Amino acid sequence: MAFEGLTERLQGAMRKLRGKGKISEKDLRETMREIRLALLEADVNFTVVKDFVKQVRDRAMGADVLEGLNPAQQIVKIVDEELTKTMGDEAVSLNKSPKIPTIIMMVGLQGAGKTTTAGKLALKLKDEENARPLMIAGDVYRPAAIDQLVQVAEGIDVPVFQLGTDVNPVEIVRQGLAQAAENHNDYVIIDTAGRLQIDEQLMNELSEIKDLAHPDEILLTVDAMTGQNAVATAEGFNDKLDVTGVVLTKLDGDTRGGAALSIRAVTGKPIKFIGQGEKMTDLDVFHPDRMASRILGMGDMLSLIEKTQKDFDEKQAKALTEKIQENSFDFDDFLDQLEQIQKMGPMEEIMKMIPGMANNPALKNVQMDPKDMDHLKAVVYSMTPQERANPDLLNPSRRRRIAAGSGRPVQAVNRMIKQFNQMKKTMNQMSKGNMAGVEQMMGS
Ligand code: GDP
Repeated sequence: MAFEGLTERLQGAMRKLRGKGKISEKDLRETMREIRLALLEADVNFTVVKDFVKQVRDRAMGADVLEGLNPAQQIVKIVDEELTKTMGDEAVSLNKSPKIPTIIMMVGLQGAGKTTTAGKLALKLKDEENARPLMIAGDVYRPAAIDQLVQVAEGIDVPVFQLGTDVNPVEIVRQGLAQAAENHNDYVIIDTAGRLQIDEQLMNELSEIKDLAHPDEILLTVDAMTGQNAVATAEGFNDKLDVTGVVLTKLDGDTRGGAALSIRAVTGKPIKFIGQGEKMTDLDVFHPDRMASRILGMGDMLSLIEKTQKDFDEKQAKALTEKIQENSFDFDDFLDQLEQIQKMGPMEEIMKMIPGMANNPALKNVQMDPKDMDHLKAVVYSMTPQERANPDLLNPSRRRRIAAGSGRPVQAVNRMIKQFNQMKKTMNQMSKGNMAGVEQMMGS
């Protein structure tokens, strides 16, 4: 699971402050020491950690936080805001050219996920903007690279311009751009060669392509799982090519989070997208605030709702948000959600987006089994429509009837209702931005 170590350590550091009416400077020092260690252990760049800790400490000391109301909650809030700031504050969108085509050049080391990301991006543009992208196969050093791009492109029904491996990549790009102009493609995505390490020859070739194509966007793909190496790679590419954005791939397998937290601060370049799986739909816009919430284990309801929205029409998603805010989320909504979630895949990642679930001890090491989902659904199906709409009706005799009807033990029914109520409460609090919800999740 992404970031689990960091989330646990940060929550642990801050949990010690909970319930204290007043926090001494010594308490704060101790907490900051733990936060610093947590970040270093997560492989966050040393200078970034130093600046981060200083900012949080200064803000905590500066305002009347230590003496004020709920100091622990305020410190969580400061940490949340500073994490967001470290990652760049606002989401930064793709650069677009005022006239077609917008040219996107993909660069990165071999294996970072460049070709996969080129495909994911093409699909995203197609889905979201009805765009007609053309991909150019510029990696002539590995014959398999062109085949791979062609295969990716076929899967998403996007054309590829290629001239095999015997033509100079700069020439391929020149001819590819001419074809895009002829066909009025609105986006061109250039896949370039990678190497295992940055070398001069590669950089020279990429510079030549850049000089020819004048890309609106040079997207550097880096593998989040390589931590500080990803940051060093980003610095290397940025020095030579002045990239315009970073795509952080394989975040689904990144347990530490160091790259996500360091890249913006070290290179000054925004992370624009994150790759969170191998499927073509697993590319998301990077939102620093949502990522901060995720790192703190506060969930990411907005991304969850957006993810759902793709399968879900907008009206339904809006109604769901309203229900959460009005605290009228019921078992029918729950059932809808379960069904949507089942379509969205890797259960563990989805659960993490729900506030309070990220580091819920009950979920630790739990592999979500599709059978569990079916059990949950069976319980809801055994409720009457009145019960689903009004969970308060669920008294012990009704619960026994539901257990019998669903073939589940009554304890399982009780447990599920309890979890449902907890989830409903937390979602409602999160939707109001209520920090009490956060404290509660952190175990106060
Ligand atoms: P390239 O050499 O940079 O073009 O890298 P590829 O696009 O061939 O990707 C290398 C491997 O990483 C492939 O097996 C991809 O499926 C995988 N990959 C790419 N992005 C992601 C991601 O976001 N998550 C996961 N889990 N795998 C990814």
